[in-house]
Amino acid sequence: MTASIIDGKAIAADIRGEIARRAAQLRDAGVTPGLATVLVGDNPASHKYVSMKRKACAEAGIESFHNELPDSATQEEVLALVERLGKDPKVHGILVQLPLPKQIDEETILNAVPLSKDVDGFHPLNIGALAMKGREGEFIPCTPHGVIELLSRSGTRIEGANAVVLGRSNIVGMPVALLLIERNATVTVCHSRTRDVAEVCRGADILVAAIGRPRFVHGDWIKPGATVIDVGTNMIDDASRKSGKRLVGDVDYEAALEVAGAITPVPGGVGPMTIAMLLQNTVRSAERTAE
Ligand code: NAP
Repeated sequence: MTASIIDGKAIAADIRGEIARRAAQLRDAGVTPGLATVLVGDNPASHKYVSMKRKACAEAGIESFHNELPDSATQEEVLALVERLGKDPKVHGILVQLPLPKQIDEETILNAVPLSKDVDGFHPLNIGALAMKGREGEFIPCTPHGVIELLSRSGTRIEGANAVVLGRSNIVGMPVALLLIERNATVTVCHSRTRDVAEVCRGADILVAAIGRPRFVHGDWIKPGATVIDVGTNMIDDASRKSGKRLVGDVDYEAALEVAGAITPVPGGVGPMTIAMLLQNTVRSAERTAE
């Protein structure tokens, strides 16, 4: 079997087109959707992620308001900035780029983002709502939401499926598991203490890998015909590349291609969806304001 490839780049481009149309309608109605980005310190990866998000905003017709604080910023300074943005009517979404420097308590800062502007979906009340039957938070966290969109837009049946999620982090594994349960999958969550992960994976109709270990999932762990969503992003050495490095996922992609029914590549799978979902949440927030 050769798996069909779930093209996250193309699916994200479709979604971004839809978002740009909704943003244009909002502007016609006098509301320009606005996203505030908060970047603390000089982590190069964080700078890159924020600039990608701002570029995507500009392309979709969303205004972005960038705020940068030095690595030495105090908790009070970051808190005051987030509180000011929380009151700014031009700002419909606030994105605090993680990780924050160690002197700053992440939870206190995320708690200060008003629920109505929590477009990252990381506020404990938004995450908590995911765990409650029949309840929906204001926003769904972006990467987990992207995983669900990839499954539904690629025609994968979630209801009744056996789903295995590798990883239980607050930002990916756990919310993905909760979203799959909400959509009536039967879900098993694996973590670093799980015994015989390979055998658990072999029962999965849907396998979501989010652990951050290069090519951890072998081809013979995958049930023939399963849908595999690879969230992992890992840099490995590759002498054939000019940079000497290459990005790979948590799944042995070449081996998985031979067994799976459908699979996301890395890069070009989940990554582009995360930004598309952030834009979608921002436009949704602006639409609520306009209503
Ligand atoms: P994380 O916070 O480090 O969590 C990793 C999870 O994997 C933990 O729950 C850990 O278990 C589990 N784990 C580690 N080793 C394991 C093993 N040998 N067997 C089974 N489970 C194991 O990572 P994260 O933030 O969720 O990110 C996961 C990956 O997704 C990373 O590669 C990250 O770069 C990527 N990512 C991609 C995007 C995107 O947009 N494409 C967005 C976010 C993250 P314990 O809980 O027991 O420690």
